[in-house]
Amino acid sequence: MTSPLPPNSTIGLVGGGQLGRMSALAAARLGYRCRILTREKDSPASQVSAATTISDYHAPAGLREFAAAVDVISFEFENVSAEGLELLASLKPVRPSPEILRVSQDRAREKTFLNRAGVPTAPWAPVDSFDALVAAIGQIGLPAVLKTTRMGYDGKGQAMLRQTADLAPAFARLSPKPLILEGFIDFAQEISVVAARGDDGGYAAFDTVENRHRDHILDLTLAPAQIPTPVDRQAQAIARRTADTLDLVGLLAVEMFVDRDGRVLVNEIAPRPHNSGHWTIDACPASQFEFHIRAITGLPLPPAVRHSDAVMKNLVGPDEAALWPAILATPGLIPHLYGKVEARPGRKMGHVTRLFPRGSLPGEFGIAAALGPAAPRNGGDG
Ligand code: AMP
Repeated sequence: MTSPLPPNSTIGLVGGGQLGRMSALAAARLGYRCRILTREKDSPASQVSAATTISDYHAPAGLREFAAAVDVISFEFENVSAEGLELLASLKPVRPSPEILRVSQDRAREKTFLNRAGVPTAPWAPVDSFDALVAAIGQIGLPAVLKTTRMGYDGKGQAMLRQTADLAPAFARLSPKPLILEGFIDFAQEISVVAARGDDGGYAAFDTVENRHRDHILDLTLAPAQIPTPVDRQAQAIARRTADTLDLVGLLAVEMFVDRDGRVLVNEIAPRPHNSGHWTIDACPASQFEFHIRAITGLPLPPAVRHSDAVMKNLVGPDEAALWPAILATPGLIPHLYGKVEARPGRKMGHVTRLFPRGSLPGEFGIAAALGPAAPRNGGDG
């Protein structure tokens, strides 16, 4: 691949969701075309892209057709099979590398990698039988969280274990899939850092942000996070160490817990644009999506500066999608809709961003007032 990739080249993006849509919009502004690989007709990403290959993510014929039509391949969706990844990588440059995807697809590999790199996580243990679960509880204690190692997101594939009686039903529900047990972190805050790394090792990271979830789905992001400087330093150092150790070329989101002692522990990593980086579209000269495209095409990475403070609110499911007319009628709310026809419960339909001058992010009441009709109804469930 010529680096940087010349204008009018075609970027292949695996996955047709909103992350692909916003990456494709950023790519268009940099003079690139996108081809989307998705199973879905009329996907959010296809609606704003030059071309689409409709195929299963594992079907060799579809993957070949897709690869033949693009100059570089990246992802907005990580769960492509190992064989699918290998096939794509044998045909065109894949960024980030398949090895990084394999690490992020599997919680056990991910935590092994992080701990070897000296990055702290919750205490954890692999669980391949009920006896192993009992032994892991003996080591880690209760409360704890049992998780499938693969395909878990937004709280799916997880069970909270509070007492011994919870073990058997949780194990019955989640096995025979490979599992891990994690100690439950009584966190003070959840934070994240989105960082980019280029093929020359150049690195840029956005400011650390605070994330609040409702029903296990991201509800609000506050940029920047209101955290003490030592916590911020740990978070930024962890993101840097993770990106460097992975030898990343692309974008990386690192989700972290801040415990009650101010220690930062990684929950998970995602080598792609992330929901907690959507605020960068409106509050930064170059967004996480532009950094994604720049990193995978070999363009220079500018510093990831923030010109404003921001609050991002997700619009999830039919109730929040129904707020759209009221959001459009509210001055100061910056609307983003993803082009999804059906608003199912739990489905991310769009988001809104509200900007504030740098250094003037308001407190709880101010944030609720500034979001107007999109204000969170219960302030999140932590
Ligand atoms: P995950 O799918 O691993 O990102 O988990 C989704 C959400 O569940 C996280 O954002 C946390 O709010 C919560 N969670 C997951 N793991 C833990 C843990 N070990 N301790 C406390 N909360 C957790």
